[in-house]
Amino acid sequence: MHENIRDLLPAECFSRGTLWIGGQWCCAADAGSFAVTSPIDDRHLMVASRAQATDADRAVRAAKSVATSWAGDSGKRSALMLRIGEEIRKHAQELGTIETVDSGRPISETTTDSVQHAAGLFDYYAGLTDKLHGSTVPMGNDTTALIEREPFGVIGAISAWNYPLLNAATKIAPILACGNTIVLKPAEQSPLVTLLLAALMQQAGLPDGVVNILTGFGPEAGAPLITHPMVSKVSFTGSMETGRRVAAAAGEALKGVILELGGKSPLVVFDDADLPRAASAAVFSTFKNAGQTCTSCARVLVARPLIEQFVTLCSAIAADLRVGDPSDPETQIGPLISAEQLARVRRLIAGVDARHVCEKRYRPVPGGHFFPPMIVTKYAFDSDFARQEIFGPIMAVRPFDTDEEAWQLANETEYGLAASVWTSSLHRAERARRLIECGIVWINCAHTLSAGTPIGGHKASGLGIEHGVEAAEQYMKVKTSVLMSGGWHSPFGMRSAST
Ligand code: ADP
Repeated sequence: MHENIRDLLPAECFSRGTLWIGGQWCCAADAGSFAVTSPIDDRHLMVASRAQATDADRAVRAAKSVATSWAGDSGKRSALMLRIGEEIRKHAQELGTIETVDSGRPISETTTDSVQHAAGLFDYYAGLTDKLHGSTVPMGNDTTALIEREPFGVIGAISAWNYPLLNAATKIAPILACGNTIVLKPAEQSPLVTLLLAALMQQAGLPDGVVNILTGFGPEAGAPLITHPMVSKVSFTGSMETGRRVAAAAGEALKGVILELGGKSPLVVFDDADLPRAASAAVFSTFKNAGQTCTSCARVLVARPLIEQFVTLCSAIAADLRVGDPSDPETQIGPLISAEQLARVRRLIAGVDARHVCEKRYRPVPGGHFFPPMIVTKYAFDSDFARQEIFGPIMAVRPFDTDEEAWQLANETEYGLAASVWTSSLHRAERARRLIECGIVWINCAHTLSAGTPIGGHKASGLGIEHGVEAAEQYMKVKTSVLMSGGWHSPFGMRSAST
């Protein structure tokens, strides 16, 4: 059963439009719109405004007009961000319900994990607002360099459709903490939870124009943000292909860009691993959010002698998972986001010998974009299935014979986002840490994250960092001033100055 989306979002989103610019709800200048549907059953949810370049320009100007005042008082920023965190927690049920209906992530996670993590990001970065200060460098001869950090001004942010609340908080919280203002374009497939977040931020006292939201499509509403002369930096989350386009446009405009792209991450199980725990992590990592997680470690590499036992364990764990309507608190796996994503997963799995592992409790909702969770043990290692990010609930299991082969296979991908390694050997854990080329290595765990734990892709998985102090550092520029108190002495001599 879906809640009525009208009861959950601000009434102005329906009467005026879903662009949030300068603290006001409005429609696109050309009155364009698009339909937002639910991945659960393809039900129409609402009509959203379809922003174009003129709307992006309005939003950027609104953000620019308040950038100086917002940058002024770090104490006020901190207090406000703590209030935003509180509002998010207070409205966990509404936020979670919208995210579930709009993105298909199970309600048992959206009302708990999504909300806690999003609120936690605001709390964490609230604590950083007055700690991102500079330093001094003694240069000798009565001279000191002051190294200061300044906000950039307006940041353009574009995010992906999976985990829409968390994605929005991951962009907004560090950007605000550093004293920047922001124009955020959520993904067109799941924009709704960001609208409620906007209303909650306003309720918490956020000044008009500090955060602006543009609903709409990438090339129309996202691309103009990248090239807009008043946008100083771009932060993007999405696919590798679009990331290349975003980086090229930012490069042409000589702007910094942060890219959080995809992955094809390995989960490595050595012969000394705690096998039941490793199997449970593999199932969780692969099937969480129906496989639509950038850091999913669904490329499972297992020591050859254990492979049969491991697959049996994974199948037994998966058999108890319930796939179906994510609005039901009992459901662990919901639908894929869209008919396009479903078609893509089907194309990648075509011809692969895959075994459906959740048959017992597979209850797709008619009209929804459901795909049955599968385990694959035989596939061509040079196929698109083996190489491309799938973003669907499919575990691919492959054996290895030696440690060296395990490291080599773990790195045999153009991506480098995450890895999960299972072993009881400290030596192997240490080697995994050093040898696997990726942004985060989980040893005997998976998807263990916090607001303070930085994560960023290596190789084709991205540029830059999200979460932690490291993420905030990217949203400030360094300004150096050199102060000389002892009097200037020109290396050319002082004669001309004194004559
Ligand atoms: P997905 O994550 O769905 O595979 P994308 O990487 O294309 O897809 O989308 C991620 C985000 O990038 C979305 O908000 C989308 O609207 C936006 N986007 C898509 N194309 C462009 C573009 N050319 N310029 C800027 N943003 C884009």
